[in-house]
Amino acid sequence: MNCTYCYLGEKKNTYMSLETAQKAIDIAVHEANKQYDRTLMVYFIGGEPLMAFNLMKDAVGYTKKKCQETNLICKFSTTINGTLVTDEIIDFFVENTFEVKVSLDGPEYVQNLNRRDYAGNGSFEKIMKNLPLLRKYEQATGNQISIASVVTSNNYQYYAESFQFLLDLGIRKLESGIDHYCMWNENDLHGLKEQLEQVFYLYKNYIIQTRQMLFWNLWEQHVKSYLFPCMFYACKAGLATCYVTTDGGIYTCSELPEFKIGTVKAGLDVPRIREIVYLNDKVDSMCEGCEYINHCKTRGCQTSNYEVNKDVYRPIEVNCKVTKWMYNLIKENLSEKQLNNMKEEYERRYIRHGK
Ligand code: SF4
Ligand code: SF4
Repeated sequence: MNCTYCYLGEKKNTYMSLETAQKAIDIAVHEANKQYDRTLMVYFIGGEPLMAFNLMKDAVGYTKKKCQETNLICKFSTTINGTLVTDEIIDFFVENTFEVKVSLDGPEYVQNLNRRDYAGNGSFEKIMKNLPLLRKYEQATGNQISIASVVTSNNYQYYAESFQFLLDLGIRKLESGIDHYCMWNENDLHGLKEQLEQVFYLYKNYIIQTRQMLFWNLWEQHVKSYLFPCMFYACKAGLATCYVTTDGGIYTCSELPEFKIGTVKAGLDVPRIREIVYLNDKVDSMCEGCEYINHCKTRGCQTSNYEVNKDVYRPIEVNCKVTKWMYNLIKENLSEKQLNNMKEEYERRYIRHGK
């Protein structure tokens, strides 16, 4: 695939060796053994992870063996583009209770706008053909497939239509990623705000009318951060999570030299991890006086801030706007009582499941 907004930029056509995967897992197992929840989550992302399905199988087998030896719980997760799934792959996901996320932006005219192959062919048809396989996974596991959609400057006009399309397909876990690498002009931002509000009302009406669960990541994330204050760099990427590239480089969460925290050969660079994770908080001029300063996660997303603005303290404008719009929707639509109930529910979930 050659999606226009791919965060990887030019693809390098590289694959991870089994040796690299095993070394990465050894480090992860060692670290997971120090964690209170004794759980190791291995998350396969790409490019397209299913292009390396054999490696994925070997890595899962190796992880299970290592976790069994040290009495750790292991969990698996992946994000795929949905074009390569087969019966064998679905059986493998079911057998290993993978959490599965599939990229799909919306109906054909939205999906094929950006998610095309190198010959320029859209991917919509292939994914729709594989839908029965994804349903098979849902029926066998009782888990819902998540759909990941990218909202960018050339498709935001269809955001609400796409959300409705996915609801009509029976999707109940929707993850919208607002593209912060592209240019958003004033007009686009205005349109994005309108679409976001429309999506919120679709989400709300669905829940009121059906009384059923619906997961929309933007709502869930913002309600949580609205209710609970957080520190700068709240995610602490590099401490309990990391990102390993095909060549064995270890990063906090994105392949940027400034956020490299080791290699599978040399191990973790602990002093560098400390520098990143415990960086002093410094309020950027953009955030001075903002009422959300102690809750906003956008402000403290060092990696994205650096990637876009070359300054770890300078928040990304579109993310800042989305945070404020979502907080406004929360304030306008939830009563004090509802907010308190939600807070208690989150606290219960945290005590029960650690999240
Ligand atoms: S909402 Fe925007 S201005 Fe306010 S703290 Fe977050 S990034 Fe800064
Ligand atoms: S993208 Fe930002 S919030 Fe997410 S893990 Fe990286 S630094 Fe943390």
